[in-house]
Amino acid sequence: MFEEAVYHRPKNNWSYAYDRETVHVRIRTKRDDVERVALIHGDKYEWHDKGHAVTEMRVFARDGLFDYWQAAVRPKYRRLKYGFRLISAGESCWLNEQGFHAAEPASPNLYFEFPFLNPADVFEPPSWVKDAVFYQIFPERFANGDPSNDPEGTLPWGGEPTPANFFGGDLQGVIDHLDHLERLGVNAIYFNPLFEAETNHKYDTRDYLKVDPQFGTNEKLKELVAACHARGIRVLLDAVFNHSGRTFAPFLDVLEKGAASAYADWFHVKSFPLEVRDGVPTYDAFAFEPHMPKLNTENPDVQAYLLEVARYWIEEIGVDGWRLDVANEVDHLFWRKFRDVVKAAKPDAYILGEIWHDSLPWLGGDQFDAVMNYPLTEAILDYAVRGTRDSRRFADLAGSLLAAYPQQATEVSFNLLGSHDTPRLLTLSQGDKRKVRLASVIQFTMPGAPCIYYGDEIGMDGGQDPGCRKCMEWDETKQDRELFGFFAGLTRLRRSHRALRDGSFEWLSAEEGRTAAAYLREADGERFVIALNAGKRKVSLELALPDGGKPAEARTIFGDGAAVQLRGRKLHVTMPPLGYAIVRLG
Ligand code: CA
Repeated sequence: MFEEAVYHRPKNNWSYAYDRETVHVRIRTKRDDVERVALIHGDKYEWHDKGHAVTEMRVFARDGLFDYWQAAVRPKYRRLKYGFRLISAGESCWLNEQGFHAAEPASPNLYFEFPFLNPADVFEPPSWVKDAVFYQIFPERFANGDPSNDPEGTLPWGGEPTPANFFGGDLQGVIDHLDHLERLGVNAIYFNPLFEAETNHKYDTRDYLKVDPQFGTNEKLKELVAACHARGIRVLLDAVFNHSGRTFAPFLDVLEKGAASAYADWFHVKSFPLEVRDGVPTYDAFAFEPHMPKLNTENPDVQAYLLEVARYWIEEIGVDGWRLDVANEVDHLFWRKFRDVVKAAKPDAYILGEIWHDSLPWLGGDQFDAVMNYPLTEAILDYAVRGTRDSRRFADLAGSLLAAYPQQATEVSFNLLGSHDTPRLLTLSQGDKRKVRLASVIQFTMPGAPCIYYGDEIGMDGGQDPGCRKCMEWDETKQDRELFGFFAGLTRLRRSHRALRDGSFEWLSAEEGRTAAAYLREADGERFVIALNAGKRKVSLELALPDGGKPAEARTIFGDGAAVQLRGRKLHVTMPPLGYAIVRLG
């Protein structure tokens, strides 16, 4: 056994409370090196009198180098002492905090500890997110429902977007098109910023307590939220708390009065006057953008102001959560206070951080519920769109992501294939809609909540912004209605079967050098095989189920031109180039 590959450390993603009764314990071993791992566990105060229990662990994820094992246990007294027995090449060894032992340690004293399952420590993300399909709206470009609020110089709808031009999109436009969202089957909207700001993207907030007049009023947003709720659609707003805009009143005051301003400490000023020297502002900013001064979230007055913002839009307007811009550059202590305020206002509000990278320090249950899952985006795009990652390397990356976070974080992760910050999926696919469909099938059948970027469902294209921020196409003759039907079908399918949302997840095929892959999802006695072909040729996959069982029936319920056959205990799935099949097992 490769002992040096074995890793476990209490807490974080290695031993954590999954809910108020259950602790998940995980351990890592070298891939294909260890045959069995058993978790030895009990209560430290009754171990000597009543002994301990042994629970077999199972491999729940794998990546290029490692197997990740997990067991779920329900400690009777909420305390857990535990160690591991690993069996490799027929030999056993035991692992405790001191390391490896050839024989079972005589005393449990040096086993690992999950000291106590305190309810306050349990990470409980809102359960509705597991059932959500999000739709992202860039408000300036979705629909112009009220020409009276158009900014000066508004261009005719449908023109070429630039970093600075305006087309008049607003909240009334969204209200007018809620039928479109309902037909698509989405049940949550993520709005890019709506608060008053100078730019068309509104990431430079002027007033955090006011809807931009170009979009409407606070009352109009309240009307929109109520209209959404009446259709079972939740609403997530974008909060830009890392930095304000140049025209934010406190910043204008500092610009004017310098060190004498009562707001001088609201920002991170390195030297007065506020100016740009050699391209670098004399105060911290978003990137080096002088129009976006970084807020000092350690200042109690700034905290009080921003926390009131967090509360106001939930309690007064009724929104269901926050997406947090540049979330990883704001201090952790502020986010802990933010969570307390948000959850007090609405216990099932969703807190989504914009972080593009490994995010464990924010996903311990005291800050965010989820992050924008760009690492999965890249894995799916590499495999299904760019063709730069074979099945095995796709599964490896997806596996490492499963192992990276507590399970409840994965279940509500925000899974996207594009956004206002990336080229559109169709453009990355070089116009090949088979790739759009293949990538979307994966996105909709993996753990986590999928999000459709506005317009992707009707075949819009566009490169890196501003190209990806075109006006929504509302002329049905110019929309790809077939693609819309595909997305509506996929949304309906996911929402109809819990197995596809938060069922168990297991790879059935992911081989090196191959472009075909398959995984199994299961819940409530329902089983689905999702088979994928990222290759340019027709392909047949022969799949055995992990339990060795023989299904009575296998039927393709979603998949153009795919065919499935049962031969003995094997499932044969044939797919066209860049095809897929969602197969329901009976
Ligand atoms: Ca307008």
